[in-house]
Amino acid sequence: MKRIAIIGGGISGLSAAHTIEEKRQSGAEVGYVLFESSPRLGGVMVTDRVDGCLVEAGPDSFLTEKPWAADLCRKIGLGDQLIGSNDAKRKTYIVKKNKLHVMPDGLMFMVPTKIMPTVLSPLFSLRTKFRMAGEWFHPPHKAEEDETVAEMVERHYGSEMVELLADPLLSGVYGGESSDLSVRAVLPRFADMESKHGSLGRAMLDARKTARKKMGASANAPARPLFTSLQEGMQQMVDAVVARLDANALKTSTLVQSVVPQDNAWTVSAGYQSDQFDAVIVATPAHVASFVLQAADENLARELGEIQYSSSVTVALGYDEKVRRSLPPGFGFLVPRSEGRRMLAATFVHNKFPHRASEDRALLRCFLGGARDEQILDSSEEEILAIVRAELRQIIRLDAEPLFTRVYKWKSAMAQYFVGHLERLQRIESLRQRLPGLALAGNGYKGIGVPDCVRSGVEAASKILAEMGMWSAA
Ligand SMILES: Cc1cc2nc3c(=O)[nH]c(=O)nc-3n(C[C@H](O)[C@H](O)[C@H](O)COP(=O)(O)OP(=O)(O)OC[C@H]3O[C@@H](n4cnc5c(N)ncnc54)[C@H](O)[C@@H]3O)c2cc1C
Repeated sequence: MKRIAIIGGGISGLSAAHTIEEKRQSGAEVGYVLFESSPRLGGVMVTDRVDGCLVEAGPDSFLTEKPWAADLCRKIGLGDQLIGSNDAKRKTYIVKKNKLHVMPDGLMFMVPTKIMPTVLSPLFSLRTKFRMAGEWFHPPHKAEEDETVAEMVERHYGSEMVELLADPLLSGVYGGESSDLSVRAVLPRFADMESKHGSLGRAMLDARKTARKKMGASANAPARPLFTSLQEGMQQMVDAVVARLDANALKTSTLVQSVVPQDNAWTVSAGYQSDQFDAVIVATPAHVASFVLQAADENLARELGEIQYSSSVTVALGYDEKVRRSLPPGFGFLVPRSEGRRMLAATFVHNKFPHRASEDRALLRCFLGGARDEQILDSSEEEILAIVRAELRQIIRLDAEPLFTRVYKWKSAMAQYFVGHLERLQRIESLRQRLPGLALAGNGYKGIGVPDCVRSGVEAASKILAEMGMWSAA
């Protein structure tokens, strides 16, 4: 029987394990061991229940347009548990001079597709509005080299758009800076649209029309919800995958120190124990992969170690019915850097996913940290709460005492795809190919969101099974 080691029990490693488990159950002669350093599986996917509220410590949902996480949920019997965000209440604010300004209708990930709401918005200066109108006539442009998101957005819409939209949006999703992140790695669609259409606005509208046509829907048919999640929270997905795995194959509280190829096999060392495998899937953050693969190939380890990560902190605050009534409608707000705040964003969870807080509760989730504020990790929970409460007071005049609070710290958990990331991935892939039986999965490579991580785990396992002659796409 062939044996595969999986290092890391976040959603990437669990997806890899599930793919191998499916093969095993269909009769293939294959087994696996999943090594996880912490006592629980799921990595950053953690759901808590507090005082009638469902509190997400890490991801709270995933993008509906990326199908891999929902596909896995359906496979593991959670199809009827998938829920969409309450898009009827979708409204996001940008904080400007301590006030909330609604993001104009028609903005599709910072690209304006409707003229009037943008023209009437007090968010942008006249100069930016002129730039937006002119963008419609932007000629097709194929950049010779990779560039930052900030550079591309500035070329199309000017610097105010970078400050008010690109930066806060990327801080929210990547915990990163638009002046560092690679357009080709983070927003490949933008690079593609610019080279084919020129104007991002026109390209975005065209793409939407084509997608609707494909779905056979009329132009007025309701769009799919932007975000998908699970009735009982993201942890439900973790629990359902784990329940389908071989319990004897799950080694929690086991920190892997090294993964070394030896005589057509791989030796995985954890503590004083080591074990031999035919193949190994390293599904940890890239900086951990770099560490454990040091003795396998130092060039590969160096490239992996160059993929930067940022840290983040999420803070949940529960309030009573009175506060719920007093809070603005909508999904929450983003805070541009120019506001000089430590909070990056806040979600009004009771609006985004209503059943996550009972009718008499308001649930807020605030984000801090990111590439520009790693120091937040050194602050105590009390200090972090004091910062969050002071900023909520100043931004949305929320002074009430919360009924409960929770603070979650995630150190070096968010991969940052800097300019040149795709070239680095190519170098990593060619080094990996020299090490048969090794596959990599996780958020350090081709997407940081939950769906991308699921896909990375499934692909890593499929690649290894194919090398073993056990894979055939069903
Ligand atoms: C606060 C936060 C909010 C997010 N929000 C969203 C969101 O709303 N939507 C979305 O799509 N994505 C979101 N993301 C991103 C997404 O959740 C993650 O990219 C994804 O869950 C990462 O999964 P993973 O398995 O690759 O890594 P992880 O979840 O980090 O798992 C890696 C695992 O490896 C283990 N490990 C590390 N070192 C070792 C070792 N030496 N030996 C054994 N095990 C080891 C760790 O303990 C961990 O369990 C968010 C991320 C964070 C941190």
